[in-house]
Amino acid sequence: MKILVTGGAGFIGSHLVECLLAEGHTVLTLDDFSNGRPEFLAHLLNHPRHRLIVGSVLDRKLVKKCLSQVDTVYHLAAVLGVKNTVEDPIKVIEGNIDGTRNILELAYPSRTKVIFASTSEIYGKNEKLPFNEMSDRVYGAPSIHRWSYATAKSIDEHMCFAYAAKGLPVTVLRYFNAYGPRQTNSQYGGVVARFITAALKGEPLEVYGSGTQRRCFTFVDDTVRGTIAALRPEADGLSFNVGSTHSVTITELAQLIIRLSRSASPIILKSYAEAYGPGYEDMPAREPDLTRAETILGYRPSVSLEQGLIKTIEWYRERISLETV
Ligand code: UDP
Repeated sequence: MKILVTGGAGFIGSHLVECLLAEGHTVLTLDDFSNGRPEFLAHLLNHPRHRLIVGSVLDRKLVKKCLSQVDTVYHLAAVLGVKNTVEDPIKVIEGNIDGTRNILELAYPSRTKVIFASTSEIYGKNEKLPFNEMSDRVYGAPSIHRWSYATAKSIDEHMCFAYAAKGLPVTVLRYFNAYGPRQTNSQYGGVVARFITAALKGEPLEVYGSGTQRRCFTFVDDTVRGTIAALRPEADGLSFNVGSTHSVTITELAQLIIRLSRSASPIILKSYAEAYGPGYEDMPAREPDLTRAETILGYRPSVSLEQGLIKTIEWYRERISLETV
């Protein structure tokens, strides 16, 4: 197939592009490098079935041109990261809503299949676990910036289902805390990348809040496996949880990373206010029900947290040692 991947130079996107090429597809990557990095695709730049276009999903003319060359689009380009969300909600709202609107509007006339990368954040602070695809969304007040990302992704999903009702083949994937090589490890990145970097540098691992909040961390290979399975037509018109069901607390995660990386770093607790500013809200736990993904996509995650962390630690170890040379 001919496939467009927006955000294809990013963390999940670059793994997806690699995998699609390995499966024999022709891939057009669109990325503006706002979050993605050229080096994540450097080894694929001369691949005969791959082309990279540097540009934004906000550029309608460019999106139209890219879409005219493919039969399917994976829309992964997004503005994400909890810190981004609390610091610049306008960028998060506009970036996520306008880009997705362009993709859907411009894919519609040719009925180009759209596979949209959504998020487990969509369930918000719903406490009824595990979340299935029809679970309620529970958010705090709109004055709490943290909910702007989930709200923007919710509008995106509403648009997806509205276009699906008009006959566009659309699939929505809700990723649960993906981690692995290439994840952003700055203060704008996810907790796994941040903890591993701190552990390898001998710096403290900062656990926010009580550390009892739970997440199901999913190795990126498993995330990509579910993403590729969404190509099948049976997935059209549906949303799917894509993640692991193995739940850990953030303190347990920190302890595991310290053990696996043989680090002497301490674990310190930091309040949410210190980490993200006043008025922050976190969700106590997130866990997917994978029944639908298993039944329709044949999806089952296969990489244990320990195996995935070992691979991820190795990747950061190499990069950190290169940085210090
Ligand atoms: N977190 C933490 N230390 C950090 C970064 C994050 O304790 O350096 C916590 C964060 O408050 C949340 C969990 O780890 O409870 C997962 O955070 P992340 O930003 O990776 O993703 P989220 O699940 O919040 O979308």
